[in-house]
Amino acid sequence: MPLIIDSHQDIAWNMLTYGRDYTRPVHETRRLESGSATPERNGDCTVGWPEYQRGQVAVVFATLFATPARKKEAGDTVLYADPQTAHRLYRSQIDVYRKLADSHPDKFRLVASVKELDSVVEHWSQPVPEGEGHPVGMIYLMEGADGIRSPHELSEWYDLGLRIIGLAWAGTRYCGGTSEPGALTDEGRKLISAMLDYNFILDLSHMDEAAALESLDRYAGPVMATHSNCAALMKGSETNRHLPDSVIRGLIERDGVIGLIPLNTFLKVGWLRKSGSRKEEVSLDAFIAHIDHICQIAGDANHAAIGSDFDGGFGLQSIPRELDTIADLQMVASRLVERGYSESDAENILGGNWLRFLRKHLPS
Ligand SMILES: [Zn+2]
Repeated sequence: MPLIIDSHQDIAWNMLTYGRDYTRPVHETRRLESGSATPERNGDCTVGWPEYQRGQVAVVFATLFATPARKKEAGDTVLYADPQTAHRLYRSQIDVYRKLADSHPDKFRLVASVKELDSVVEHWSQPVPEGEGHPVGMIYLMEGADGIRSPHELSEWYDLGLRIIGLAWAGTRYCGGTSEPGALTDEGRKLISAMLDYNFILDLSHMDEAAALESLDRYAGPVMATHSNCAALMKGSETNRHLPDSVIRGLIERDGVIGLIPLNTFLKVGWLRKSGSRKEEVSLDAFIAHIDHICQIAGDANHAAIGSDFDGGFGLQSIPRELDTIADLQMVASRLVERGYSESDAENILGGNWLRFLRKHLPS
């Protein structure tokens, strides 16, 4: 079974908003939450450490995320209305991850360098005694840069272990984002120019096309997209959340990697979560089509990956019907092979592409 590197999970946000304990198996979290408001708001849980083990999910990009107060939805408690609050909330999420790794060093490890990455990957290649498992590597990913109060603060964030920054979620003061279109602002231009000093990885997910294309032109450091699907396969969709081919091409030219999301809303135009059976719902093949679209544009399988975003505002009710938990992402490999991809292409898409990208761009 290939290793999976999943480029988007809102672990701290879930822990703080819903009190989820990701050391638990998924079925236990579901049982504990049944009858509460959580499944209605965030869907049934799909992520847990035992499932990471079963699915060989070795590394995840763990977000620092807070919702702008103007976008508040039912259940949202991690909210900011100004940069100072965003800053404080992101810092508190770093504390959550540190505590998680400190209290369960056998289960979770923070990764901010190639050495730390390779040590996790190496662990996964060794057999472990019955009843034990492998540590899951967590790489911080800031989703929406409003918590960076000024470019001078980047050194502080870097020292905390932050390596990946996405400027947008909705729009931020740095650039246009989901449902709030626009280019980079002057502050955004200043920020990415300062990011280059530290070789921060720039995440284009959630950026509006204008901001993403300008970033591709301006930013000479590493670029990628942690969790985005292909706009070309979502014709008729009103949102600017998906990646236009122009941005996909730009990322491929820069040897970027794109993590695709197995979320029904991002696979089938007009899909809405309904209660009841998932039988008639979206198939995993719709997700494979988004992976294939990236590979067709690239002419190879070196740029597509998985950024599941599982538990990030949705759960079991909103993912392709073949999947039950994060462990089932392994099915993506067999579907790709059925579709004519080689085993090594499938391995790259599940984890190898992110591994190559991270080895190239994280500090040694
Ligand atoms: Zn997101």
